[in-house]
Parts: sequence; C-alpha cells; structure tokens
Amino acid sequence: MITERHSVCPLDCPDTCSLTVTVDDDRIVAIKGSHANPYTAGVLCAKVPAAYPSFVHGERRIRTPLRRRGERGAGSFERISWDEALETIYERFTAIIAAHGPQAILPLNYAGPHGFLSGGSMDLRFFYRLGASLLDRRPLCGGIRTEAWVGTFGTVPGMRPEQAEHARLIVAWGNNVTWSNLHLMPVINRARKQGARLVVVDPRRTTVARQADLHIALRPGTDVALAWAVAAEVERRGALDRDFIARHVDGFEDYMALARRYSVAKAAETCGIPEEQVRTLAEWYASISPAAISVGNGLERNQNGGSGIRAVFALPALAGKFGVPGGGLINGAGFAFPKTPARLQRPDLVPAGTRTLNIIDVGAHLLDERLSPPIKAVFVYNHNPVVVHPDQNRLIRGLSREDLFVVGSDVAMTDTMAYADLVLPAASHFEHADLYAAYGQHWLQRAEPVITRQAEALPNTEIFRRLAARFGFSDPIFRATDAELMDDAVDPSDVRLGGVGPSAIPTDRAMAMTSNGEEFTLFKNVFPNTKSGKVQLASPYLEEKYRARLPRFLPVESGYPLTLISPASDQRVTSTFGGVNGSHTPPLEMHPDDAHQRGLRDGMSVRVWNDLGEVHLPLRVTDVVPRGVISSLKGAWLSTSDNGQTVSALCPSHHADISEGACFNDARVEVAAHPS
Ligand code: SF4
Repeated sequence: MITERHSVCPLDCPDTCSLTVTVDDDRIVAIKGSHANPYTAGVLCAKVPAAYPSFVHGERRIRTPLRRRGERGAGSFERISWDEALETIYERFTAIIAAHGPQAILPLNYAGPHGFLSGGSMDLRFFYRLGASLLDRRPLCGGIRTEAWVGTFGTVPGMRPEQAEHARLIVAWGNNVTWSNLHLMPVINRARKQGARLVVVDPRRTTVARQADLHIALRPGTDVALAWAVAAEVERRGALDRDFIARHVDGFEDYMALARRYSVAKAAETCGIPEEQVRTLAEWYASISPAAISVGNGLERNQNGGSGIRAVFALPALAGKFGVPGGGLINGAGFAFPKTPARLQRPDLVPAGTRTLNIIDVGAHLLDERLSPPIKAVFVYNHNPVVVHPDQNRLIRGLSREDLFVVGSDVAMTDTMAYADLVLPAASHFEHADLYAAYGQHWLQRAEPVITRQAEALPNTEIFRRLAARFGFSDPIFRATDAELMDDAVDPSDVRLGGVGPSAIPTDRAMAMTSNGEEFTLFKNVFPNTKSGKVQLASPYLEEKYRARLPRFLPVESGYPLTLISPASDQRVTSTFGGVNGSHTPPLEMHPDDAHQRGLRDGMSVRVWNDLGEVHLPLRVTDVVPRGVISSLKGAWLSTSDNGQTVSALCPSHHADISEGACFNDARVEVAAHPS
C-alpha cells in the first residue's frame, strides 16, 4: 500500500527541511518537500530526492553487523550476529582499559545526522561513563563561526532568515546560498523585488554571485582586511552609530585602531580586488537600512577564519543596524532553541581530568608514539573521516595501524567503514524517531519512523543502550527510551514549547521558536548575554580561551603558488551521498591565465600536489575563479580517485585563530599536466 508520511531531513545543512516521504510496502519510493516547516515550504535541494531511496535501500546499505576478514581498507567483511559484535567490543575495550585505561578509547563522531538523539545522546552517556577520551568535534566545521558569535554576542539567537525579506541590503558573505542555504534564496528574491540590493563576497563566482548587484571575489582568508576597511570607511563617511556604540559596544577604540590601518587601497591590495568594490560596499552599508548579513562557513576555513567572521560581525554594531526586522546578522540560529545538553548527554559522568582531543588532530594522535595513553581503539559513527578530514593521507596511515581496534557504525558502506574491524548497521533517520533543531532557522521539528528498521539495523540510541547493558552500566539513564531522551533534549517547561512535551510535538507542523510569540530580534527583544551585556569587539571570552582578544590578519607563508579552495558540492551534503550521487571525479577549476602560464588546456588531466599529497583531476579552465585561486568540490569519495587521494589530502591540519578550527582553504599547491 502506498502512503505519504512526514519526516525531516537531518543532514549537515542549515535548512533542516520538512519532508513528505512516499512509502510503498515498507520501501521509500519518493521524497518531496512538505509545508510542515513554513521556512522550507515544500522545497528541497536537488541532492536529496533521488539519493535517499538508494541511500536507504541501495547496494551500499549495511544490513547486519560485519567483521573484517581482509586487509584494512580493502572492504572485505563477513556477517556476524549482534551478540558477537557486542561481545567483541566488550572484550576488546575491556582489555584495552585494563592495559592502558579508558582514555585509550576514542569516539570519533561528527555530524552525519543532526537529530538530538542520533547526533549525541545515549552514545555520549556511554562514552562519558566509560571514561573514554573526549572529542572536540567543533573545529572540523562551524566551530569557528560559533565561537566568534559567542565571543562577540554570547549565546543568543540572531536574525531568523525570514526577516531578511525586510532588508534593503543583503550581504551573503562566504555563503553559497543556492547550494548550501537554499531556502534563503526566496527570501532574498522577495527582498530584491522590493528594491533590496544584493552583495556576495566569495572567491568563486557562484550562482548567487552571478545574480548579485556586487560580487567581491576576494582572496581566500582575507575577509578580515575587507571588513576592517569597510568599518574604517563607514567611520570616515560619518556613518558610525555613536549612540549605539556608547550604549552597547565594548572595545570600540581598540577595534577601530586595527581597522583604521586598512585603507581602501591597502584592503584592495590585500584582498586582490578593485578599490572601487571596497568603496561601494562601504557606501552601501553606510547608507542603506535595514541591512542583513548572512555569514556562511566559507570564510572560516583558514587561519584568519575567526578574525574574518568577527570583523564581519562588528559591522552592524558599528553602523547601528540592529533592532529592526531585517537588520543585523543571520546567525546564531542554534541558540533559538531551549536545548538542555546537560540533561541529554550527562557530561557530569565524565571522570575528572579526562583529556579532550581535537577532531582535526586525530590522524596525528593515532601516529603519535608518545601520546599517553596511546589511542588503542576508535569508534567511528556519524562520520566519514577518511574523506572529510584535512591531511587525508596521515589519517589513513593512522587508521591502518594493525594494533588499532576500529569499530564503525553507519547506514552505508563508506571509505572509512572499509578500515573498521567491526562494522555495525545503523538505522537511517527514516527508521527511528528523533527531534530536530537547526543551525540555520528557528523551527523545532519532530519525526516518527516512516519505515521499519531495515534488516538488523539499529538506531544509535539502541546500539549504545545495548553496549551500556553489556558493560554493566545499571543506572536507569542507560535504559532511557527515545521519548525520554527527547524530553531531556529541550526544556519542556520553556515558554517556547507552549506546554507541549518535546516527545509530543506534532510531526505535521514545526514549532516556531519565538520570544513570547515575537520572532527574535537582537536589540529589540533579545540582548547580548556576554559578561558585560554588550557587543564585545574586544572579547574577554576569546582572550581567555584562545588569546584572541581582537581579530588579526596573518598571510599564509608557502612556496606553492596557488590557493586551493574546496567548497561544498551541489551533489553531496559534505560527504553524504558520495556513494550514491556524484561518483564522478570533480573537476579542478582554474583561471585561464593560470592555465595558460602552465601550458594547460581545458579537459586535460592534471596533477595537483603539495608536500602532503597529490590528486589527479580533470581540468576546467574557467574565470569563475580568480587568478591564483583554484577550486575543487569537497566530499568526493575515494572511488573517484585513481590514486586513493582526494582534495582533503592536500589540506593542511594547522589550526585557525579561534576554536582551533580547520584551515582547509589554506591549502597551497602547484598544478601540472598529468599523463593519464
Ligand atoms: S540537504 Fe538541506 S536543503 Fe537539502 S533537503 Fe536536506 S535540509 Fe533540505
């Protein structure tokens, strides 16, 4: 019988669409957008509708527990029972704990699904109680932007994206809206119909950049210089909001002393753009209100990432853009929800003194013979690190250690699962209930399973419930049901829930997160909750955590001449669907002048290399990228490669200025013809 059921897309994407899933005889046969979430309003990206049925029912689906029987990475496994799998984990972990202590075990989890339950609930309770090493996941992506926000405004929500409809100037800064934040596009279009101007700041001429009134194709990593120059130019034009600054801004003089060092000419030279573009952005920002800025993750992926974002965040505070619908920053959506992670995840279970490892350093730690205790086991779930971590070759060398016990859990067989000793079949989000916040919009959603669990797949909550039972963790928190976990995930007594228990939120309509029925508007009904209650352009929080009281600019030093960026793909969500969509090798985009200088022609196979690795890609000669910048889309799986390396192999693993974040766009490389 064919039925239509409500669900939610949980992938690592700011939009978190509501879905209508067509099910025929317990099989997903079609996916379309639903109107349960008014923001996503029946529209989906092109990545999802065709991919989901194959993702859930296709040949890569992991249906039973598996044990490796060939070489690591070869992907050869035999079927085992759940009892055998859980017993093996128990025995191996127990032996490792006896020899090295529990911190020799590392959970390696990221953001595959974004539901509260699948993303971090019973799993964390288990690892916290076990005493395993802690993993700081945020540096891989998004952590820099979040820390910049918290360090400047505190843990408060910014503008919800729908409000940008009221803006007369919209700046999409490092945000490829049409590929990575799709539902902002109709909002922008409605604003433009009312006369709004659109500015796009992005090294690449994306689809939204082609539609913009002004596209600033700056050099990757130089955003801070552009934002400083705009601030200084706004001041020179007498457009600072002195009254707002006096009442609501800390660190103004120290901040402006930095910004004033960047004249229009100096910023233009640093960013590799015409002076006129800096002036135009400053003139428009000084004179047009309401003005909304949407900050994407594009500008955080470099060693100046936090500084660039903080300098952009400073602009509305300096020019007095807050307090009205459509004015300010589309950011901080995650803080619109009354989350209660202490109840859901129970960090109080963590033994005192437990170490925390940065996710982007895992490859180095796996190979570090002096690490004490050494990592002897990793449990990979919600993650495909072989494809998405910087310095891919180092991570693969680490996972290839024969003395390392690797457990993997996933919906589909990925490049990383191929390195596991044991693979567990995870249920897809269509097979279990979950509760969904978002990081790009202000709607809370819940979903029930739309199909039964496929074969022997289990949701993360049940996998870790069973593991907790096997390890003898008898506290009732390890037997909590999924409904009880939902009720622990957000505060049921918060006014935003209107008396509805989290586990009883209807699945056919999303719940708006508002301030007493009014949408959040910074400096109208919500205010910074920094220590001073002000916007902190000089940030004590960031000083204490990262010695980064103020933004700074450091150029990348390298002997390699070309900057390689690896932006999000229109085929995959990070790496998800790499085994379904986009199995072709992504091209390398290069400006015609750079290609000519190297004697390269469109369509040739080229080798791209630096000291970390070498990747072979088909060349696309195009002026969508500026001179000196080359681009290839991230997230392609190893099957697209003829030598087992993708662009992640070329990305360095040093840390950004805050959040110890990843610096993918600091990759510097050379390119030459590759005889294929
Ligand atoms: S990936 Fe993003 S835009 Fe696409 S369906 Fe999922 S939430 Fe919506």
